[in-house]
Amino acid sequence: MFKLPPPLKKIVDVLSELPSIGPRQAVRLGFYLVSRGQGHIKNFADALRDLGKIKVCERCFFVHENKGNLCDICADQTRRPDVILIVEKETDLISLEKTGKYKGRYFIIGPISKLGVLDDWQKLRLKNLLSFIERELGGKAEELILGFNPTSLGDVSAKLIMKELAPRAKKMSRLGRGLPTGGEIEFADDETLGSAIDRRS
Ligand SMILES: [Zn+2]
Repeated sequence: MFKLPPPLKKIVDVLSELPSIGPRQAVRLGFYLVSRGQGHIKNFADALRDLGKIKVCERCFFVHENKGNLCDICADQTRRPDVILIVEKETDLISLEKTGKYKGRYFIIGPISKLGVLDDWQKLRLKNLLSFIERELGGKAEELILGFNPTSLGDVSAKLIMKELAPRAKKMSRLGRGLPTGGEIEFADDETLGSAIDRRS
């Protein structure tokens, strides 16, 4: 049976663990990296090593490189701590943040499965949020905003999270109006997202 040289096999194995990369594509990418030469391979390796320095915010779970445990958004005293927008992915946060319309905080719950159940790590995140609300916000947040996609899966997620969090918020709202049905927050333009923030209900 044909065998790849071990260093190439090793990178192919790692690449094939990435989402939406199949085994054949991983092999192709492996050869591509080799073909680009030593300099590029070194850059790639350096970039990956630096990625190891990235930290995850202990409050909202977004990334940061700060000395403390909080990301720039959570550390920003000018933003309201008691209005929290819950999103599935980091990329959703980035799209919403780019609108410049939102001055509260965020919370990343992670992609929720089609079955509408939370993974153990998501339950831990939620527990973290609940204890923050208990400890820092006197038991109830002013407003919790559900920033899930206006899709059937997003509806499942919203229902699930709503059930968990409703007792801990004075007001619960959902982004939606203005967002095209079936569309995704990540890919919506700034204007659409801005009005979805303004017109949350
Ligand atoms: Zn944060």
